[in-house]
Amino acid sequence: MNEPTPLPAAAKSWDWDPAPESTDHIQLNDHYDLFIGGEFVPSTGGQTFKTINPATEESLAEITEATAQDVDRAVKAARVGYEKYWSRLSGTERGKYIFRIARMIQERSRELAVIETMDGGKPIRESRDIDLPLAAAHFFYYAGWADKLPYAFPNRVTSPLGVAGQIIPWNFPLLMAAWKIAPALACGNTVVLKPAETTSLTALKLAEIIQEAGLPPGVVNIVTGHGQVGAELVNHSGVDKIAFTGSTQVGKQIQHAIAGTTKRSTLELGGKAANIVFADATIDQAVEGIVNGIYFNQGHVCCAGSRLLVEESVQEEVLGKLKHRMKSLQVGNPLDKNTDIGAINSQKQLATIQNYIEIGKQEGAEFFAWECDLPEKGFWCRPSLFCEVAQSSQIAQEEIFGPVLAVQTFRTVAEVIKKANNTPYGLSAGVWTDKGSKIFNLTSQMRAGVVWANTYNKFDPASPFGGYKESGFGREGGLHGLAAYRSLD
Ligand code: NAP
Ligand code: MG
Repeated sequence: MNEPTPLPAAAKSWDWDPAPESTDHIQLNDHYDLFIGGEFVPSTGGQTFKTINPATEESLAEITEATAQDVDRAVKAARVGYEKYWSRLSGTERGKYIFRIARMIQERSRELAVIETMDGGKPIRESRDIDLPLAAAHFFYYAGWADKLPYAFPNRVTSPLGVAGQIIPWNFPLLMAAWKIAPALACGNTVVLKPAETTSLTALKLAEIIQEAGLPPGVVNIVTGHGQVGAELVNHSGVDKIAFTGSTQVGKQIQHAIAGTTKRSTLELGGKAANIVFADATIDQAVEGIVNGIYFNQGHVCCAGSRLLVEESVQEEVLGKLKHRMKSLQVGNPLDKNTDIGAINSQKQLATIQNYIEIGKQEGAEFFAWECDLPEKGFWCRPSLFCEVAQSSQIAQEEIFGPVLAVQTFRTVAEVIKKANNTPYGLSAGVWTDKGSKIFNLTSQMRAGVVWANTYNKFDPASPFGGYKESGFGREGGLHGLAAYRSLD
């Protein structure tokens, strides 16, 4: 493969002096209770579990494992919050509370970004520049809609759904909480949220903010714990709507569980996005987009560009430049402002990724990893890729959720569309080309909820996000995100 500058096997392109973000301003309790009815309350079961920093394996705090009884208390508190307070407030009043939350997130963004990085392992650059600004932006955006709902649904009589049960994953903990809570509240619903077990801290900090913002009791409730807590919430008869972001496997279990009930649902599930590079693209820009799509945030992104489909005539150039760029990626301390790739969220997720790497090797694909040094403690995965990947192979079809790219080639537009669409998923895709007509042709033929053109992983609260096929249904964000929390009868 042609590489622009030959590098010694295990040398970095360059080195940075460490620039760690300070943790002095962070205040974490040793123990966190559940947030129910506006108060932090202990569990009826007395069980707790540790949340760790995946970069150091050190314990950060004890989190409460909610029981079925606790979930019941939270749902009942949300019902009281709905009937007694939230459904009686005007949109303008609801909006004021949501604006207040947005402002408080902004004010505390440094603290929240550091906690997000410590609890989940993502680079501080990402939590500081993406998670926090976007979380605040979602609250601002939906606060603005709260008093304008008749304009969102012209000539329709709409009403809130009631109590929303919301279950979120560990890859964007606070941002996912914002995606779920902000539109639900703007539309007049109350909420019981269950964060992922490995990343509960920012949701609990958000509970503190909600308490400080003076929201009426029961409007937002947060129950922590393992998957079982989510299942209790799904099965609770007092919940009117389930909003879930997570794996397709659990999404299917949720659909089974609520079949035959009147509960509504939106499911944001997995993905296996095709990032398509045509020969006429600006290759350097595309390489940066590939890196952004799969390596930043450790590939812990449902819409990660985990498949690279590159036009055969530029394969050598693209792969040469990509490997060169991979060798400049900084893997290590997520709190360091120079870090590109932080820690894998959990030992379990690392084992899943390593298993897929073994599968890829057994399937006969050509493996490349940037053999950089890794810290001794914590969970780490080197940025890696497989070339010559067959369309039918597991690493081209299944979500790895790690910094592992599957590379395939194509010769014609028809071929690339077929390959891009040929997975069980349909969440996102990317296309890199100089020709606008190619972009429009592809976007209209690809079964993907979002298609980025000459960029990747860009988000805005005003644009809807969601999938086709096994990537789920329903949309979050934008005007579409409001429809998921109002009854349009
Ligand atoms: P997951 O195992 O499905 O977990 C998601 C959430 O569901 C967690 O809070 C989890 O709790 C909870 N849960 C587990 N079992 C449950 C059950 N039987 N009933 C109800 N809730 C249950 O997914 P994950 O491994 O945390 O997250 C990674 C997955 O999420 C990937 O597949 C990714 O593509 C997907 N994802 C999708 C989007 C999107 O917008 N489409 C965004 C982010 C992530 P515990 O954590 O305690 O197990
Ligand atoms: Mg953790």
